[in-house]
Amino acid sequence: MSRAHNFSAGPAVLPLSVVEQLQAALPDFQGCGMGLMELSHRSATFDAVHRSAEERLRRILGIPEDYAVLFLQGGASLQFHMVPLNLLTPGESADFILTGVWTKKALAEAQRSRAGQAIWSGEEAGYTSVPQTVTPSGGATYLHYTTNNTIYGTQFTQAPEAGELPLVADMSSDICSRPIDVARHGVIFAGAQKNLGPSGVTAVILSPWALEKASGDLNPMLDYRLQVDKRGLFNTPNTFGIYALERVLAWVEDLGGITGMATRNQAKAHKLYAQIDSTDFWSGHASLESRSEMNVAFCSPSADLDAAFVAQADAEGFKGLKGHRSVGGLRASIYNACPPESVEALVGFMADFEARRG
Ligand code: PMP
Repeated sequence: MSRAHNFSAGPAVLPLSVVEQLQAALPDFQGCGMGLMELSHRSATFDAVHRSAEERLRRILGIPEDYAVLFLQGGASLQFHMVPLNLLTPGESADFILTGVWTKKALAEAQRSRAGQAIWSGEEAGYTSVPQTVTPSGGATYLHYTTNNTIYGTQFTQAPEAGELPLVADMSSDICSRPIDVARHGVIFAGAQKNLGPSGVTAVILSPWALEKASGDLNPMLDYRLQVDKRGLFNTPNTFGIYALERVLAWVEDLGGITGMATRNQAKAHKLYAQIDSTDFWSGHASLESRSEMNVAFCSPSADLDAAFVAQADAEGFKGLKGHRSVGGLRASIYNACPPESVEALVGFMADFEARRG
């Protein structure tokens, strides 16, 4: 078996040790005579997996005890709908920091069911940066932001200052990659398919305030309060995905938890940006102070060279390096599970490519 250097933006590379554990769990899980995917979601065996996933996420992120943790389906995109539905009573509205299309989609969903407005927008500038400070509109119920902008390779270094305003964070592409202050947030959500596991599971972290706000009379599938009452088991959850997430979190804890991940991620990002900055051949998309440690968006001097880079890289086992269609150029996603060796190899390939084509 040979594994490529996988730089996909998501679904993304998983730790090989986790993939092997998943493989082993399929025919006979923990000697129970049934495969992982064949177990009842209400069995004691799966319940232990489910609880362990929650406990690990709580430990890794330092989630306060009075916060709830759910593993739902529907991706981050469903949270774009559920958050305003649960947190905004008709007449209330939310502020948004527009740092890319994912926030724009979230804003559109808030406006569809309730109300929302952008208090900062990077759209005209091509979403090359995130703001260092913002001024809330006054009167909003919460402030929604995206911690890491997967497409443009920008990232907040810390949560925006918003006074007393509760924060709602889309952490789809950097959850568990560095320490965060969960207590400053009303809601945190993240699709699993970048840093937590396979697609089909969404981690949702809810403060007591958010649960208080949730009216409790929505469609049950969309209702935070009901979902928390049922521990995310109102209907059949993605049992396979939750087990995979639990194994990924065990791997994170084995590597030193959140500080271990942060050190590993900083080193990888530093190496790649150093290569981009070393000559004029490469240019980074993001402005320096907004650079992401998870998605490195860059380009060579021309679209033709970018295409040649992607093709040659692909032939040599470097996958997923084409930039998002809305930005073009190149993008290397270097999430938690991307091995430092893959970044090392990519940097070498970039130097070779530049020497041959530069
Ligand atoms: N938010 C961010 C920051 C993302 O990167 C993505 C997916 N790439 C989404 C939201 C949408 O996630 P999903 O496909 O899980 O709905």
